[in-house]
Amino acid sequence: MTLHVHKYGGTSVGTADKIQNVAKKLVKEKASTGNDLVVVVSAMSGETNRMTELAKTMQASPSAKQMDVLLSTGEQVTIALLCMALEELGQAAVSYTGGQVKIVTDDAHSKARIEDIHTNNIQADLAKGRIVVVAGFQGVTAAGAITTLGRGGSDTTAVALAAALKADECRIYTDVDGVYTTDPRVEPKARRLDKITFEEMLEMASLGSKILQIRSVEFAGKYNVPLRVLSTFIDGEGTLITYEDEGMEKALISGIAFNRDEAKVTLGGVPDMPGVASAILKPISAANIEIDMIVQNIAEDKTTDFTFTVHRNDYDKTMRILQEICEQLDADRVTGDDKIVKVSIVGVGMRSHAGIASQMFSALADEGINIRMISTSEIKISVVVDEKYMELAVRTLHESFGLSGE
Ligand code: ADP
Ligand code: ASP
Ligand code: MG
Repeated sequence: MTLHVHKYGGTSVGTADKIQNVAKKLVKEKASTGNDLVVVVSAMSGETNRMTELAKTMQASPSAKQMDVLLSTGEQVTIALLCMALEELGQAAVSYTGGQVKIVTDDAHSKARIEDIHTNNIQADLAKGRIVVVAGFQGVTAAGAITTLGRGGSDTTAVALAAALKADECRIYTDVDGVYTTDPRVEPKARRLDKITFEEMLEMASLGSKILQIRSVEFAGKYNVPLRVLSTFIDGEGTLITYEDEGMEKALISGIAFNRDEAKVTLGGVPDMPGVASAILKPISAANIEIDMIVQNIAEDKTTDFTFTVHRNDYDKTMRILQEICEQLDADRVTGDDKIVKVSIVGVGMRSHAGIASQMFSALADEGINIRMISTSEIKISVVVDEKYMELAVRTLHESFGLSGE
């Protein structure tokens, strides 16, 4: 028996009509293929944000534990409504919250990791011909507390269920018809990719493309889950996320990612001696602030400038901590900029080609875009530029690397 796990994101289930549309699609698919279907759904679009704002009216910074109790209700609404719509069409269906399935997670509230999934009940339901509808984005700790998996976490629920149930395919249905060379909202000339490697998709997701949650791609790669991104509204093959294979067309660059959520901070005139980098970064990580890029300048006058990027939400906190470190280390100054973005080019083809970086930098220079920081790995090059240049940088690189459609 073929088993498919489907996932429908917020915009795909954003209204009553859209939920009914998904129900019709599922009934049609079951009738035409006979496949077993497990369906993961998100909260109706806007709900997670609405509840987050609502919480802030109660408490300036509510606990992650209570936030999880609150936000997990969004998905619970959708599973019930979808089951009703399916039953109305004569299709037997059963709804599960994460806790009811027993998607067991650790207790890192608001960013919990899945540790185990109990599949017995789901399997029994499938055997009875039911469509199984599971709330995305949530789980339960061994002690019984409700957890959530981080924004975009329904993707990870779907992939993890597909892995646990050994599904034949995990299909992520959304409001675009696949993974594009870059976000089509920023570059309308972006092209849909038929295939992309797990490695590239993981880089794209890590570098800011919000089409798939990073952990869902990690999971799919690790457990070899065939993963496809497709549109809920338009028929098509979408994009298959797959291992690199010999026959695959090896484009130099597969895509361009960007991240608007970054901020840059600098500690200037730091005495250049062993232990300084760790003295700066230790208090930052102790405050649970994640650091992305780091650059340290060569010292000419026995002092150095130390620059790094953090999430924009952590900017004020980071600046405060740096002021203290500045005094302790007898450094000169703290400066920062929270109007920066990171733009990255990604491609496995880069491995075997020199000159990609210089092509990237000269394309940006031709448009007068100043590069503030650079970081590279085997299959990606990232630059930090001023926020005002984001769209221009993405479109310029898209054109320069020949990614635009005909
Ligand atoms: P869902 O609510 O279905 O989970 P998301 O909003 O999380 O949907 O993800 C879909 C969105 O991802 C698209 O509307 C698109 O704007 C954005 N996106 C970002 N990068 C890409 C990309 N490279 N290809 C396609 N879509 C992308
Ligand atoms: N509802 C959650 C969010 O908006 C999870 C998801 O949609 O994947 O982030
Ligand atoms: Mg999403």
